[in-house]
Amino acid sequence: MAAAPTEVTVRMYNVGFGDCFLLTFKYPGDERHMLVDCGSTSAPKRARKDPDFLDKVVADIERVCSGKLHVLLATHRHRDHVSGFSTQSRTGRAIAALKPDHVIQPWTEDPRARADAVTATASIYTSGKPDTKKMTAHFLGALEDMHEVAAAIKHSARVEGPAGKQTFKHLEFLGDDNIKNPSAVKNLLAMGKRGNAYYVNAGMELKILPGVKCTVLGPPTLEQSDAIRKERARDPANFWQFRSFWGAQGVAMRAQLQRAKRVAGAKAARTPELPKSVRWFVKQARQVHVDELLSIVRDLDSVMNNTSVILLLEAGKRKILLPGDAQIENWAYALSNPKWRRLLEDVSLYKVGHHGSLNATPKPLWGLFKHKGGPGASGRLETLCSTKAGKHGSRKSGTEVPRQVLVEQLEKNSRFISSETAEDAFCTQVTLDC
Ligand SMILES: [Zn+2]
Repeated sequence: MAAAPTEVTVRMYNVGFGDCFLLTFKYPGDERHMLVDCGSTSAPKRARKDPDFLDKVVADIERVCSGKLHVLLATHRHRDHVSGFSTQSRTGRAIAALKPDHVIQPWTEDPRARADAVTATASIYTSGKPDTKKMTAHFLGALEDMHEVAAAIKHSARVEGPAGKQTFKHLEFLGDDNIKNPSAVKNLLAMGKRGNAYYVNAGMELKILPGVKCTVLGPPTLEQSDAIRKERARDPANFWQFRSFWGAQGVAMRAQLQRAKRVAGAKAARTPELPKSVRWFVKQARQVHVDELLSIVRDLDSVMNNTSVILLLEAGKRKILLPGDAQIENWAYALSNPKWRRLLEDVSLYKVGHHGSLNATPKPLWGLFKHKGGPGASGRLETLCSTKAGKHGSRKSGTEVPRQVLVEQLEKNSRFISSETAEDAFCTQVTLDC
């Protein structure tokens, strides 16, 4: 077989709110296939009434791969990226039957890592300095706990009733995305055991496809991102700032969890009809409580997104950037490296991060791409965005996904294709010669 691919085809399947990309590397007389995520939390408009829409996507993947998958990348554990790997439906079994040679996941999924959330938080800090090993164990423990919190919050959203319909919708959606998907997680682990499993962090180079350079730009380990943690000491939203997250927010989360359980119990007991004069107050109080929950679940969501693998593939003169749902905190590490910034300048195809959300295509990253340009520009940057509007964030608060101002930039300066508006409602194909 020739040492390098002559062209690469990227398929973006329309899975509604989620990601499912298939990359096919063409070599003289041979092909190699790489699947990047397979999940959805909300069906595409074209298939609103079709419960088997993901099955049809996987059937097409089977057809293209003709029985063999070479690489599988599961960027992070969110449902909208891994639900298709669940063996409770045919999709997960079918993908496992394609026997991927290499299975890539973030380091946070490594089964050898100890998810210890029991040790007292204070023990992480000895003589004012964090013990990174303990810190990592805590972090992994926190990731595990998040599923429980998300489930409780989702439950709470359901039982609390009509206060702020829109808020509840978002609560339920975010809660749902963060609920653990044990079948998918198990299947990914098993597939990794059959082939080569890689649990990656920033800086690793993977040999997974002949003639394709594959650099991991994220996520950083907590040791690697220690500098960032210090740099952003004043930014309360930064999750790498471990102490504030697991210290203050962790405690708040546990309190909310207890509260959610109590609320569920109280609702079951059915409180008697309240006098008219206090109904307004009760409604307001509930709204405050729900808003608090929503801010916590948003933080959970960001933390999990930031465990996303960021992968840069180089095949001949082409570069393909696959960042999963990585947000600014994950990107900050890669973007602080001058060598990697140079490497990112001539990206040919960019998978738009986190379905087009406001903080997943950092401006310093967008600023690096030199193939930006209007229609007709030669070698114009290709951007692919798998998304579904109206599921995440809100226009009112400027957090809608996809974010309109970002979409305008992408449309103006690249050949932008959104899964929602693509000509082919099932699958978009882009082929690049290498
Ligand atoms: Zn996602």
